[in-house]
Parts: sequence; C-alpha cells; structure tokens
Amino acid sequence: MNPFELRNPDSVAAASGAAGPARVFKAAGIDLLDRLKERIDDPDALVNLLPLGAELGGIGRSDDGTIRLGALVTLQQIADSDALAAPGLRALREACGEAATPQVRSRATLGGNLLQRNRCWYFRSAAFQCAHDGKGDRCLAWHGENRYHAIFGVVDCLRVHPSNAAPPLMVLGAEVEVQRGEARRRQPIAALFPDSPAAATAEHTLGADDVLIAVHLPAAAARGGSAYRESREKQSFDWATTAAAVHLGVEGGRITSASICLGAVAPNPWPVDDAQSLVGEAPSRELFEQLARRVFRRATPTEQNRYKVEVGQAILVDALLAAAGL
Ligand SMILES: Cc1cc2nc3c(=O)[nH]c(=O)nc-3n(C[C@H](O)[C@H](O)[C@H](O)COP(=O)(O)OP(=O)(O)OC[C@H]3O[C@@H](n4cnc5c(N)ncnc54)[C@H](O)[C@@H]3O)c2cc1C
Repeated sequence: MNPFELRNPDSVAAASGAAGPARVFKAAGIDLLDRLKERIDDPDALVNLLPLGAELGGIGRSDDGTIRLGALVTLQQIADSDALAAPGLRALREACGEAATPQVRSRATLGGNLLQRNRCWYFRSAAFQCAHDGKGDRCLAWHGENRYHAIFGVVDCLRVHPSNAAPPLMVLGAEVEVQRGEARRRQPIAALFPDSPAAATAEHTLGADDVLIAVHLPAAAARGGSAYRESREKQSFDWATTAAAVHLGVEGGRITSASICLGAVAPNPWPVDDAQSLVGEAPSRELFEQLARRVFRRATPTEQNRYKVEVGQAILVDALLAAAGL
C-alpha cells in the first residue's frame, strides 16, 4: 500500500470539495482498503466520511411513512431496525443480514455497500491488466476463469455487481440523495448504475466529488410482502453466486403488483421486466416456476457458470414463494 493522507472534513460540502481524481471517499474502508492493499487504487488522500455521522447517519421514519437510511448506516443496523419491520421491507433486512460476516456487517456502511467495486479476480489482482481496470484491452474472464461471472446484460465485461443491498432497494422503489458541493439532488436508485455497463464504465454513475447522503424508501414499499434469497458457496464470509429480491402486492388472492431484481448475475443489479406478467394471477409455485424458467431462458452463460441458470431459478422461486407468504 502506498502512503496517503487522511482528511477529516467537518461537513459534507467540505468533503465534496476535498475530493478529486486522486482522492477518494472512505466510509468504513472495507472495500477501499482492500483495493489499496491490492494496489488497484493509488490515491494520494482518503476523505474520511465517518466524522459526518450527524448528516450521513441514522434510520428515520416520517409521519407520511417514508423512510430515510443515512449512507453511513451499517448493514447490521438495517438488518436489526424496528423502522424496517414491515413485511414489505423484509427483503432489505434479509439482504443486509445475510451479507458477509457479523464483523463486516457491523462496520460496512450502506453507501459503501452500494458503491463497492466488483469482485472479478482479474480486476482485483494487480498481476492482471484488464479492460475494466483501464490497463488492458479486453475482459480476461471471457477466455479465463469465469465461474462467478455474469449470465445477463453483458456488454464486453463479465463482472457481476456484488452489492446485497442494491437488488432489494431496486424492488422497493428507492431513491438516492447525492450532494456535490452545496447542491443536493435525488434520483431513482436505478440511475446509480450505468445504462450500458461496459468494461470502460465504472460500477456506478457518481462523480468523484459526489457524496451519497442517504437512501429514501417510499411509504408504499412497506405494504405487501417481500423477500431476498441468495446462493453462495460458503455459509459465511462469501459473496452471492445468485440472488433475487422480490416485492409483491397480493389482494383477494390475486397479485396486484410485482417487482423483481436479480443480483450477482449481471454487471448491474438486474431488474426483471417479466415480473409484470404476474399481476392479476393467483400466486402459486407453478406460476413462479414458469416465470423463473422464462427469465433464465434468456441467460447467456459461459462454459463455467451454467450452474447459475438452474440455481438462479430455484433462488427466484424461493424468494417469490416467501414474498407471497406461501
Ligand atoms: C469477507 C467479506 C465478505 C463480504 N461479503 C459480502 C456480501 O455477501 N455481500 C455484499 O454486498 N458485500 C459483501 N462484502 C463487501 C462489503 O459489504 C463491502 O466492502 C462494504 O459494504 C463496503 O462498505 P464500506 O463502508 O466499508 O465502504 P468503503 O470501503 O469505505 O467504500 C467503498 C466505496 O464506496 C465509496 N463510498 C463509500 N461511501 C460513500 C459515500 N457516502 N459517498 C460516496 N462514495 C462513497 C468509497 O469511495 C469506495 O469507493 C464482503 C466483504 C468481506 C470483507
């Protein structure tokens, strides 16, 4: 790891002003310090966001039912939060409660989880030069080791988006609040991820001086049922190999709304448009299995990650059954 300066700004505006191409924000530092040790990032300064807990922390529920999750809230705080107790928000609690290990969850922040970089071993090793790290001219996983890589949405890079928190936030209709300088803006969480996640594109769309302030959930997210399920090789200390977040409204025995987002199968969190075909139907295992088969028929696996097609379907069906209360 190369030497760097640690800056402790006293406001979000000062943090934004202190950022730049060779300076990077640090939350808990779990992903970032790995990247420094792996020498895939080499900033001359880290801008520490942890002193800004008053602006960037906390989980709050307004009278109108909307919920604000500060960017520095930890994954464990989300998993344990009474403000997120409604069945409609269970997918988020489950996703954060299953991520990583208890030690990591108790430090890892929501902002850092959404903005962490991908886990492709070619990208993560200074020994390799790939198109995504900007040092090579192609994706080395195409003709290399790719068992954990993408089966949907591949442009020219097989990385998968690693965040547990992103798929449930997508199905809950979350918005992110971002500050640059003194100016704040809100945007749908989908806009945090690139339209076309090519090798030359970063995992997220924030600029170097954009501070993620908070994530907002609409009141409607708490209604209905939701669930998150994932597969992984190890019980703990591991990232998902496939994941599915589901939010369903069910009234009078019929599905009234449906939203699905897959994780760990594409360079972005992967929303499933086919979810709309569930609306008006009576929830059942057969209905959910048909949908899962249709969704995964469009997958484009490589030689080594064909298992994701079968496992991903099972995970999606499990999540749908749980969200429907079956
Ligand atoms: C053993 C292990 C297993 C893991 N398993 C999982 C898993 O199963 N699922 C999963 O999702 N993750 C997993 N992780 C990853 C872990 O959850 C992330 O590394 C962590 O959430 C990052 O949060 P952080 O606060 O440490 O972010 P940092 O490392 O501090 O930051 C990460 C990135 O986000 C940027 N950033 C952070 N906060 C902000 C902000 N507010 N505004 C602008 N930029 C910001 C930083 O500049 C940096 O580029 C695992 C990690 C380990 C070590």
